[in-house]
Amino acid sequence: MFPAPFEYAAPSTLDQAIRLLQQYGPDARLLAGGQSLIPMMRFRLANPKVLIDLNRIPGMDFLEEDRGVLRIGAMVRHRAMERASLIQQRYPLLADAARVIADPIVRNWGTVGGSIAHADPAGDWGAALLAAKAEVVITGPKGRRIGQRTVPLEEFFTGPFMTALQPGEIVTEIRVPAPGPREAGAYLKIERKVGDFAVVAVGVQIALDADGVCRKAGIGLCAVGPTSLRAREAEEWLIGKRLDEGVIARAGELAAEASQPTSDTRGPAEYKRDMVRVLTVRALRKALERIPMV
Ligand SMILES: Cc1cc2nc3c(=O)[nH]c(=O)nc-3n(C[C@H](O)[C@H](O)[C@H](O)COP(=O)(O)OP(=O)(O)OC[C@H]3O[C@@H](n4cnc5c(N)ncnc54)[C@H](O)[C@@H]3O)c2cc1C
Repeated sequence: MFPAPFEYAAPSTLDQAIRLLQQYGPDARLLAGGQSLIPMMRFRLANPKVLIDLNRIPGMDFLEEDRGVLRIGAMVRHRAMERASLIQQRYPLLADAARVIADPIVRNWGTVGGSIAHADPAGDWGAALLAAKAEVVITGPKGRRIGQRTVPLEEFFTGPFMTALQPGEIVTEIRVPAPGPREAGAYLKIERKVGDFAVVAVGVQIALDADGVCRKAGIGLCAVGPTSLRAREAEEWLIGKRLDEGVIARAGELAAEASQPTSDTRGPAEYKRDMVRVLTVRALRKALERIPMV
């Protein structure tokens, strides 16, 4: 199917994009990679009168570590996350997630900011970035200097395909705390076939102290709830403990209890809940293996 007719605007600055958003209000939609929006328009699930293209705005695709924070510009493509040596070397949780999003064509276009703003409960960045305890930087009508606010990702997701974005606001950056010396993560996904959305996926990020005791834990769940979810009780269970097999197994059970899967074409709810348990255990083991022994 073809989309309904629409006007197209290609601003060259963020301020222009925000002004256009204000001018057209609910009739306008931002276009990032187009990998969710264009299919929705073709199926007439979205019928914006105006598309505001972010692709011509310079400076929205930075990817850098700055004073203990990984800064991911909203327009960074999935492919750039997959390829960046900074991500491969320092953020294995994010590198794992980037590799299993869709197929190479979608990864070439799709953006981290677009994925987060789309807020699909089956989006891989949601779960991975929740595990990484990410924050979302939002720029509004007052521009970069005074119109910015930062929201923990968990609060940004307010429901299926719903976010804390207000009219006239754009996601401009995602911030992830940089890892400490004994810290690592992993992301594991079950999919029906390569390139598909998750049946279930789990991201974990853990940090140990010098004695091998867990001092920080993040666990994000994908496709098993109305939003990407954080398994808080499982995270809290890990803190202050040595991560032996018994402790890891219990964390898997607690993560499964935190999930809220529904039965659909990707499988029955009971199966998905058990896969949350299995993937949590495996991801924790993998993250532990990745922590450098000093
Ligand atoms: C065949 C196929 C398979 C896929 N498989 C997967 C998968 O396995 N895992 C996965 O996670 N995803 C998957 N996706 C989705 C893909 O990751 C998309 O790239 C992503 O969901 C949306 O990013 P985008 O940049 O394409 O956003 P767009 O489609 O351009 O926009 C999506 C929505 O976000 C809004 N938006 C975009 N950028 C911003 C911004 N900066 N600020 C505010 N609002 C904004 C748009 O207005 C729109 O409402 C798949 C897509 C396809 C087509």
